[in-house]
Amino acid sequence: MKIAIFGAGVAGLSAAIELVDRGHTVEIYEKRKILGGKVSVWKDNDGDSIESGLHIVFGGYEQLQKYLKRVGAEDNYQWKEHSLIYSEPDGKQSCFKKAKLPSPWAEVVGGLQTDFLTMWDKISLIWGLFPALAGNEEYFRSQDHMTYSEWHRRRWASEHSLQKLWRAIALAMNFIEPNVISARPMITIFKYFGTDYAATKFAFFRKNPGDSMIEPMRQYIQSKGGRIFVDAKLNRFELNSDESIQHAVLHDGHNIEADAYISALPVHNIKKIVPVQWLAHKYFRNLHEFVGSPVANCQLWFDRKITDTDNLMFSQGTIFATFADVSITCPEEFQKNMGTANGGSVMSLVLAPAHQLMNMPNEVITGLVMKDIHERFPKSRQAKLLKSTIVKIPQSVYKAVPDVDQFRPDQISPIKNFFLAGDYTYQRYLASMEGAALSGKLVAEKLLSRFGG
Ligand SMILES: Cc1cc2nc3c(=O)[nH]c(=O)nc-3n(C[C@H](O)[C@H](O)[C@H](O)COP(=O)(O)OP(=O)(O)OC[C@H]3O[C@@H](n4cnc5c(N)ncnc54)[C@H](O)[C@@H]3O)c2cc1C
Repeated sequence: MKIAIFGAGVAGLSAAIELVDRGHTVEIYEKRKILGGKVSVWKDNDGDSIESGLHIVFGGYEQLQKYLKRVGAEDNYQWKEHSLIYSEPDGKQSCFKKAKLPSPWAEVVGGLQTDFLTMWDKISLIWGLFPALAGNEEYFRSQDHMTYSEWHRRRWASEHSLQKLWRAIALAMNFIEPNVISARPMITIFKYFGTDYAATKFAFFRKNPGDSMIEPMRQYIQSKGGRIFVDAKLNRFELNSDESIQHAVLHDGHNIEADAYISALPVHNIKKIVPVQWLAHKYFRNLHEFVGSPVANCQLWFDRKITDTDNLMFSQGTIFATFADVSITCPEEFQKNMGTANGGSVMSLVLAPAHQLMNMPNEVITGLVMKDIHERFPKSRQAKLLKSTIVKIPQSVYKAVPDVDQFRPDQISPIKNFFLAGDYTYQRYLASMEGAALSGKLVAEKLLSRFGG
């Protein structure tokens, strides 16, 4: 079969890997000049790598790790010490470390030893979160109508733990507050966190997600005959009388003909391309239920190290939610003599919630970030800031607000030669690299089974 895939993020590339491996002719059309979508990385004029966002691989990402292995990139990421590190004022840190015991004792004992939670926090969490640990998919689905804050309070879990621990997790997962995010993804995460010891460990790419993951994927697809076109924006579909796609039309007027068409575009982009006739189907109308989360990523280059932490960090009460010194966590990137780096810290910080930042001038945002950096990392007060960059994504992952999960579309659409992939499509993960990889695998399998392949 000849299959046209639109969008070269993790979802589109994963679908292509599956399809070229089964001997099909695959063409990928990507609107930007670089591949990777939300994981893309590019070099600026100084030779510095600019990331769309700081990206972490979790231990539970089974499908993504399988693809990394298949494309020969299994050594391109590095596991860090298994702990949640919270950066506190004046350079202090607090830590949640799992005990070396089987789950859930690893988490219970680890939680009891945590110094930033009070005894009441700990007791209320063990009691309050029990339904999440014991729950199944059906239970999680039944909790989707309320926000996480509501769920937490109904379970009488402590307010301090909500603000201190779970707020950071909500911001890291979906870039929104616990009183906005649905209970469902949060309690699903607790289940993983509390029952699978390895699922919550973090790995960083040795270089950056572009060089360590996207580039090996590209090489693999092309080595198997797949063709990738950049600067190739999908504009519209021309339809047959039965509503199936006759051909796709690119922005520059080129027509693309294939046996099947996969959209691996973000939901806010495919919404604009869906032909009006298709809106007679609820499946396509449902796409309008999704709203993207705004987020920004800030990178700061310093003339000296301002921290020695080789891991992801969280913080509460700062403009940044999760962050890392990538000159330490990524041993083959951001090192001395690479671009602007001179051996000092290179902080990569995810700014969330970010709705107020989208129209704010970058120098004002950098000022706010630096104020918090000085407060959290005293060594930065003597350091010189060599350079800063900000990448804003007004519509990144879909907001996992209450009652939206039911609208996530299956990868098979009602149109016989049209399929959807992407982190927002239905699979067991929230929008993430793993969700995108899973959607790529599912779309390939479902497409082939529809065509009897
Ligand atoms: C700041 C930030 C930090 C994150 N951190 C993590 C993390 O630590 N761990 C994790 O697992 N996930 C993380 N994520 C989420 C993760 O990046 C996404 O869930 C995942 O990459 C989405 O992949 P995708 O292929 O579904 O979509 P995308 O990456 O959005 O890919 C879609 C592609 O379609 C292209 N496109 C759009 N319109 C057209 C068109 N008309 N024609 C052709 N092409 C088009 C786009 O250019 C893009 O390349 C983070 C996201 C952000 C923004």
